[in-house]
Formats: sequence, C-alpha cells, structure tokens
Amino acid sequence: MHASRGKRLRVLVDMDGVIADFEGGFLKKYRAKYPNEPYIHLQDRRGFWVSTQYGQLRSDLCEKAMSIWESKNFFLELDPIPGAVEAVKEMSEMENTDVFICTSPIKHYSHCPYEKYAWIEKHFGHEFLEQIILTRDKTVVSGDLLIDDKPDIQGVEPNPTWEHVLFLACHNQHLPPDCPPPPPPPPAVLGP
Ligand SMILES: [Mg+2]
Repeated sequence: MHASRGKRLRVLVDMDGVIADFEGGFLKKYRAKYPNEPYIHLQDRRGFWVSTQYGQLRSDLCEKAMSIWESKNFFLELDPIPGAVEAVKEMSEMENTDVFICTSPIKHYSHCPYEKYAWIEKHFGHEFLEQIILTRDKTVVSGDLLIDDKPDIQGVEPNPTWEHVLFLACHNQHLPPDCPPPPPPPPAVLGP
C-alpha cells in the first residue's frame, strides 16, 4: 500500500453493480415498461454499457434502455447486492480503514444524484453521507483500493493512486482474468 499516507487504508467502493443492483433493477423495470420488446437475460449481458448491448439488439432499444435509468426512483429503488451493505459497514468499522462510496452519477441529473444520497442514507444511515464521493472521473480521487465492476476505469489522471479491484458482475464475468506481473520481492530484512 501507499506508505506515504500512513497506516490508514482508504477504500473506494463503487455503487452501481457493487452495492446497488443496477443490472437487476434495470431488467425488472425495462420488462415492466416494455413487456413486448426483446430483452437480454442477465447471464447474456456482455460489456459494461447496458445501452450499447440493447442498441446492438435493435437500434431503438438503446434509447428505451436509457429511459429506464433516467426515470424518477430508478436509483432510489435499486435493491442492495446481497451481503454488500453488511460488508461495507463491516469494512468501515475496521481499524485504520476509511471507506468511501465513490460513484458516477448519470449526466441526466434530474433524479440520480439526489437518489444516490437517499439510497446511502436509507441503507447505511445518515452518518454515512459524509463518505460519499460523486464524480464522473474516479482517476482524480486518491485511495489505496477502488472496488468497481467497470473493467476499464479511465480519466484525466493516467496513474491513479488506487489499485483497481474488479468486482465480479454479470457483464464482466466472462472477461479473461487480468494477470498483472507479480510484485517485486520484498526488500531483504536486515537482521538485528
Ligand atoms: Mg459500477
């Protein structure tokens, strides 16, 4: 970890697809709103962007997909990913560990930013509102770990401080495992 920041570990946790079930919530509301349109089973989801895969299915479905998460109460009514809320609470209570929810609101901002705050308050309590970072560019946020289901996280900072931990999701589970080079051996410990 980054010794320069002292002993505390700063963990950034993504929201959609990590603690809030965006994919499940999307499919449920899409099928309710467009019962006669084709849809993609969660096990057939490929690629990070839902709208892209729906657009490939049929071009007009891209916009129909977007209309779902642009609707009022979409983000607020997402179910938690099973076990995720408990895990984040537990992690934030660990010694020397600071946890932040680091999430990118959609650009259709009428509902999403408000609902993300309301969702965190509902599931984590009012105090946790101190630990929210809303940003469209996670590379400029400093941390030791970023737990996120998006395989490629890019932005203006070419060398983010965090190490990306890819959270498994229906859309990324078929990707080949990322095999980073093994870390260099630890420096030899000098004897007393
Ligand atoms: Mg996500």
